[in-house]
Order: sequence, then C-alpha cells, then structure tokens
Amino acid sequence: MTKNKVLIDSHGRNHNYLRISITENCNLRCTYCMPAEGIQLTPKKHLMSADEIIEIASTFVSLGVTKIRLTGGEPLVRKDAKEILLRLSKLETELTLTTNGLFVHDYITVFKEAGIKALNVSIDTLQKDKFAQITRRDEFDKLDENIRLLLAEGFIVKLNVVLIKGFNENEILDFIDLTKDKNLQIRFIEFMPFDGNNWDKSKLVSQAEILHTIQELHAKEAIERLIDKPNDTARNYKIKNYCGSFAIISSVTNPFCNTCNRIRLTADGKLKNCLFSNSETSLLEALRNGDSILPLIEKNIYSKKGIRAGLDDQNAFENPLVFNKNRSMIAIGG
Ligand code: SAM
Ligand code: SF4
Repeated sequence: MTKNKVLIDSHGRNHNYLRISITENCNLRCTYCMPAEGIQLTPKKHLMSADEIIEIASTFVSLGVTKIRLTGGEPLVRKDAKEILLRLSKLETELTLTTNGLFVHDYITVFKEAGIKALNVSIDTLQKDKFAQITRRDEFDKLDENIRLLLAEGFIVKLNVVLIKGFNENEILDFIDLTKDKNLQIRFIEFMPFDGNNWDKSKLVSQAEILHTIQELHAKEAIERLIDKPNDTARNYKIKNYCGSFAIISSVTNPFCNTCNRIRLTADGKLKNCLFSNSETSLLEALRNGDSILPLIEKNIYSKKGIRAGLDDQNAFENPLVFNKNRSMIAIGG
C-alpha cells in the first residue's frame, strides 16, 4: 500500500481531511441536532480513549491526512480535551475544531500552544431569546463574549448558522451585516435530515432562497463570488468592500460530493465515509483486538458512494424511513 492510495476511493477522491468526534456529550441541546429527550449515550468503555484517538489519528496522518478537525457533541466538554489537542498538535497535520464556543475562554492558551489558527463556532441567531429556544439553554451572552474574545486574540473565526424556515431566515441580512466591520466568515448551512431532528422539507431554507434574500438588499454587482478552495464544501461570497465574507453550504439542494475529501471517525471509533451513510466500520474494535486498521480504512473509503451515501435520488434523501436509520448529528460530529 503506497501512501495516499488507501485514502483514495473508487471515484478518485483523496480523503486527506479527517473529522474526529471526541464526545457524544454536549452542554447545549440544539433542536436540529438532537432529540429533546437526548440520545442513548455510548458507555464510556466503548468510547475512544485519548491514547486510542492519537493512535488512530497518527495512522491517518501517516497515510496522508493533512487536516484534522475535532468535533462532537461539544469537543470542549471532554475532560481530557486539552491533552488530546496538545498531543494531536504534535502530528504533522493542520488542527482545528468546531465548537459551540461556550468553553473557549478556558482554552485560549491551549489553542495557541496547539497551533490552532482557525475555529468554526456555531451560532444560529443573534437574538438571546431565540438562542435559548433553539439550543434549549440560556447561554447567548457567554457565546457572544467568547466570539469577541477569539477575534481579539487573533483567531480566524467562521460562524456556522443552520437556517430553519420560520425561525432564523429573517436574520440572514443581520448576519451579513456582521461582516461589514468584522473579519468573520458566516457559513449559512442548509438544515439537513438526521435521526430524531424532525426534519422536513418545509423547514429548509435553500441556497437559492438565501441568495435571493441577500439580493433583496444588496445589488447583484455588490455580491462578489469568491474563488472556492479545492475541496471546499461551501460556496464563498462577499459583499464588496466588507471586511468579512459569507458562504453557503447546500448539502440538501446542491451537494458538493464530487470534491469531497472528508472522512469521519465517531467517538466510539467507527469510520463513516459520508455524513449520510449508516454503514460504519469499527476501527476501535480492530485496534483493541490488536488487528491492523489499515485494510478496514482502505475498504471503507474505497466503497464510498459517489453522492450522499448513494442517496442521489432526492426523494430517498428526504425520506424519514431512510434518514432515521442514520445517527443523530450529535453522535456523528458535523
Ligand atoms: N458542538 C459543536 C458545535 O455545535 O459547533 C460541534 C458539533 S456540531 C454537531 C457541528 C456542526 O453541525 C454545528 O455547526 C451544527 O450547527 C451543525 N449541525 C448540527 N445538526 C445539523 C443539521 N441537522 N443540519 C445542518 N447542520 C447541523
Ligand atoms: Fe451540541 Fe453542537 Fe449539537 Fe448544538 S449542534 S446540540 S452545540 S453538538
């Protein structure tokens, strides 16, 4: 097996970007991410330890992974998050994370020590009462403070905004307004279907609707289409002369599977070759049995389907009988 070959699927895509969920726990309860009653948590003994995370991550880096993102659940609620970040930072790969931002004030020094330059922070509304409604927790002020702190400390901050019809699509322009003076990137994410999140199409705010809303205020010539990075899942734009930018992630209405380079490892050590796939390969089990994880990685990646885990048909993709067979997002790691 030559380096990299293992990470290439039958469609020729090179999976050099690993997203590792380090916990299924979270200090928020976002309605679009998890059911109100919570999820059945995996017993701790079946979750990856810090050592196991480092060992699996090291294998991926030796195969050619150049970027690792920690996610969850909320990665920073894990007690040994600091140790994991610092140990991963020793690997030859870019390190970043997606967080709900509530604990970042405790991690500024760790982030710097770990060489983290950029973070994705989730915030779906700029209104305190609506924040409590969507996250089922009253933590808006802390998050607002922590986003300012990250910017003041020189981090590149991207804000993830999941748009839900009737809830926050009327804030699209307010989010764009933030980019006028602040060097932020706003990432509008189409609401995606997973187990237990009561998804239905009527709640979707599509890429076309997002652009239409923006064009109601900003002239077409003022909306600049930026050049997307290779493998970018977002389509990038900015308002001319604004400091920051915005992007749209349209996995539902306009997926970007042909350039996908992502592979996911769940907190219980299962490899998922697509967010929408319910077929998983346990690397943790093999590791604990003393078996090589290489053939498992190779087989899992090679078998990746061309589009959304084989759900290229939109009706199948939107069918609850299908998406309820997948995990809840909180147990995948977005
Ligand atoms: N707790 C961290 C956070 O909220 O940023 C990391 C984990 S969270 C699962 C990762 C990302 O997935 C967040 O930006 C969240 O908004 C997004 N997400 C969760 N459920 C989603 C859904 N149904 N559709 C689209 N994005 C979703
Ligand atoms: Fe927690 Fe993030 Fe899911 Fe919200 S989106 S419940 S913060 S894991």
